[in-house]
Amino acid sequence: MKYHSVLNSSPTLSFREALFAGLAPDGALLVPETTPRLLSDAGRSTSLHQIGLDVLSLFVDEIPNQKLLSILRNAWNFPIPLVKLDEGIFLLELFHGPSLAFKDIGVRFMAHVISHFLEHHHQELTVLVATSGNTGSAVARGFYNVPNISVAIFFPSEKISRLQELQMTTLGGNITAIEVEGTFDDCQRLVKRALADPVVQRHRTLTTANSINVGRLLPQIAYYGWSIAQLQRQFGVSESPLVVVPSGNFGNITAGVYAKWMGMPLRGFIAATNANDGVIHYLHTGEFVPADTIRTISNAMDVANPGNLARLQCLYKHDVRLLRNDIDAVSISDEETIAEIRRTYETRSTILDPHSAVGVAAARKAQQWMTNAPPIIVTAPAHPAKCADIVQEAIGTTIPLPSTLQESMNRPTHTITMPARYSEVRRLLIS
Ligand SMILES: *Cc1c(COP(=O)(O)O)cnc(C)c1O
Repeated sequence: MKYHSVLNSSPTLSFREALFAGLAPDGALLVPETTPRLLSDAGRSTSLHQIGLDVLSLFVDEIPNQKLLSILRNAWNFPIPLVKLDEGIFLLELFHGPSLAFKDIGVRFMAHVISHFLEHHHQELTVLVATSGNTGSAVARGFYNVPNISVAIFFPSEKISRLQELQMTTLGGNITAIEVEGTFDDCQRLVKRALADPVVQRHRTLTTANSINVGRLLPQIAYYGWSIAQLQRQFGVSESPLVVVPSGNFGNITAGVYAKWMGMPLRGFIAATNANDGVIHYLHTGEFVPADTIRTISNAMDVANPGNLARLQCLYKHDVRLLRNDIDAVSISDEETIAEIRRTYETRSTILDPHSAVGVAAARKAQQWMTNAPPIIVTAPAHPAKCADIVQEAIGTTIPLPSTLQESMNRPTHTITMPARYSEVRRLLIS
């Protein structure tokens, strides 16, 4: 498989090159040259790792299948269960990895693949990441102590939870946490600019671990197949599900759309957003109107200008009517999110994190609109303890912190603070 820029369809990079480059030479996002079809029984295999192999062997030419399977087993050493939440609504719990958010799934695959390639080529690599909260902690934990790699994480000042901040700033070692006096979109802009800066490239080999890297995006396709396998086997449901994906930068949902194009039986998608809902207007009009980022309680989804939209537009040849056949979008307010956390706790004794609650609230709306609604899977992106303050206030009781989170609260922090100015970023990277 070759990868090319969303702006220019001439095939340019191999998987390995795409993984290390992060972005195309023209600074735009990379996409696979074609969307491969799965063999008829692939993607419905009996294990997550086998589905991962079925999917990723079609995208990664440079790693033999046996090695790829062992990478997947090491990277995904935690369960991804599907649980029934309510009549017709299932939760795919993507948060059982070390940082307690779904980003572990893509990030850990990427870290293990990079480590595999570096072993062979004796390279040093700097990984740049912009985070609205959970990417940073997943990347910090996924890459911590991986040899020959240093990581710089850019996060917006005072816009992420204390716990998310501590998960990135307390590791030290090869992990540098940079607090930017600005928004997530500022952080993303700074990282994109550094990746395309020839001056910095003379000093370092750079890549990014944002969801814009194909090394993170593609592995996420696998769990869509795994959710269908579980729906059929555990719950005897064979109808194709609708999938509700709580969305920020739209990486997760883009992986789901690839899964559908590859032939997995998925009915379609609903992007559940918070107040940062520019995509709704886009789906209606075909025009994306840039807006300022709005701060919400589902802060990992506070993204005004979702990077992966460019990939979806490329896939659907910029025809928003075609895109609309597969994707709808629903915006959920903070009040509705809190009400959903409370309602699900009171009626099902299940504690949702705010991001998952945005998804469940959207799923309930979809059920109401549709006559004969299909089964709905909500991808649950984070463990409730990651946003404990908000959750505890909503349900009126305390929830225990998992031990990994408890540990990070007690360690000293290492943070560099800077304004949202590119010259500062360049100075740091060439020093
Ligand atoms: C990253 C993240 C999201 C948004 O995912 P995208 O792939 O950027 O759309 C939603 N919820 C949580 C908890 C996250 O960490």
